[in-house]
Amino acid sequence: MSDPFAVAEHLLQPFSPPPRLLMGPGPITVDPRVLRAMSAQLVGQYDPAMTECMNDTMALYRGVFQTNNQWTLLVDGTSRAGIEAVLVSLLEPGEKVLVPIFGRFGHLLCEIAERCGAEVHRIETEWGQVFSPEQIEQAIKQVQPKVLAVVQGDTSTTMLQPLEELGAICQRHGVLLYSDATASIGGNPFKTDEWQLDAVSVGLQKCLCGPSGSAPVTLSEQAVAVINKRKHIEAGIRASHHVDGSGQRIRSNYFDLGMIMDYWGEERLNHHTEATTMLYGARECARILLAEGIDNAIARHQLHGNAMAAGVAALNLKLFGDQRHKMTNVVGVYIPPGIEGEAVRHSMLHDFGVEIGTSFGPLHGKIWRIGTMGYNARKDAVMQTLVALEAVLLKHGHGLSAGAGAAAALEVYQGES
Ligand SMILES: *Cc1c(COP(=O)(O)O)cnc(C)c1O
Repeated sequence: MSDPFAVAEHLLQPFSPPPRLLMGPGPITVDPRVLRAMSAQLVGQYDPAMTECMNDTMALYRGVFQTNNQWTLLVDGTSRAGIEAVLVSLLEPGEKVLVPIFGRFGHLLCEIAERCGAEVHRIETEWGQVFSPEQIEQAIKQVQPKVLAVVQGDTSTTMLQPLEELGAICQRHGVLLYSDATASIGGNPFKTDEWQLDAVSVGLQKCLCGPSGSAPVTLSEQAVAVINKRKHIEAGIRASHHVDGSGQRIRSNYFDLGMIMDYWGEERLNHHTEATTMLYGARECARILLAEGIDNAIARHQLHGNAMAAGVAALNLKLFGDQRHKMTNVVGVYIPPGIEGEAVRHSMLHDFGVEIGTSFGPLHGKIWRIGTMGYNARKDAVMQTLVALEAVLLKHGHGLSAGAGAAAALEVYQGES
């Protein structure tokens, strides 16, 4: 008798991904050192080796975030798990949040804050631009929010919102400042304490060289006080010394930063089961960044980002957005008239093994996005991408002078050495 649930024969083979150079807006090709770290065997949840690894990871991410915040930990999940944890833990239903939107991820902050039941106020600017501190302060005065939630680098537009002055503005108006720096940290300056941020969340799959699946978060004392006021420890792990906070219970169990802090803190109160393999990966990402030196990593992203931008411009392509505010690690490139954007991406991937990015929303079909981040912020990766792009563009009839892209990139590198 045949097995009605028999799976196809090929499914019994292990998955073997094709070799790719990921030069899109993320995820990127993972640093082999991170892959190695993630192949280490598990230890138990409360094994001293495990708790030591958790404490070390907290210390390493204080370095990454440039902060003395005690509460610097990992939320298990992709970057939006970190966003969701921060917003659902800070915002009680009905409380006001202000979100400056300059791309797709600003809309995501709004969407998540709305699901938290918050009263969401938006200011918007055209994609390709950023806000001035004055525009944001003006909106804060009008709205008087509890939280200002702002993306630093929005890969959807390749723009980097300046944050330096927002902390002082928020302090003046008694507003908590939260930033999603997923796409920018490690490749662009980011200073949690100096810029007076109250909450920051990131992910591994952009400049930090890792895969998606872990969301490092840091919280100021002020943010922790707000969260602890809402703390309600779940039945089953609660003991007699636990006292409920006076605020409303946080509406998510998984993303309850109060309970997550108790798990990462001295009490080691069991919440979820830490995703040990992601912990190993996240620890290695931070170690690699700090061993290189943050300033060196930023300079590396700047150099290779400049080489890529110069290279594509020399291929007779126009760059997207206000270049004064471009992220170091990704460039937006207009798809030239008459060229089929998806056909170019298809050929890049299938003929050359190089992935470049498409775009969302108002930019859909208008620009490609080419990243130089993390492990792929490297000269050979930049040169291979430019040479492949030139060949594909020539095949599609785009007018360009042969060799100009690679030459322009090499010129940037020459100036450097
Ligand atoms: C890429 C990116 C993310 C990714 O979120 P995931 O949940 O990991 O897919 C989040 N925020 C910003 C600003 C990004 O650029």
